[in-house]
Amino acid sequence: MSEIHTGACLCGAVRYAVEGPLRPVVVCHCSQCRRQTGHYLAATSVPPERFSLQKDESLRWYRASDTAERGFCSACGSVMFWRPLSGHGISFTPGTLDAPTGLAIEGHIFCADKGDYYDVPREGYQRAGWG
Ligand SMILES: [Zn+2]
Ligand SMILES: [Zn+2]
Repeated sequence: MSEIHTGACLCGAVRYAVEGPLRPVVVCHCSQCRRQTGHYLAATSVPPERFSLQKDESLRWYRASDTAERGFCSACGSVMFWRPLSGHGISFTPGTLDAPTGLAIEGHIFCADKGDYYDVPREGYQRAGWG
């Protein structure tokens, strides 16, 4: 039997549950993630069949590109979800998970697009082939 993790936005109007195991956290430094979060985005993920929304009254999806959309709480602004339109997997922000997450950062992607005001942290490693 797998572990169940729950998560919520800052105001509690969006709640979700996921069935583990969760993918290790990947930090994305692409320009879309930096614009949306104000810094960079950390995300873990599960296959869509292991994800369920429990409360979504203020959840909004923003179609950020031709291939993916980003879910956030329209009441409090929490950055929560990223999903490809192909339906393969859903990513979510580990900061919205209830503790303990049991997670660790595995690596950083799109490092070439990072902001010029910080260095990519050295924990983990740069995932080969992810930019
Ligand atoms: Zn909220
Ligand atoms: Zn990104």
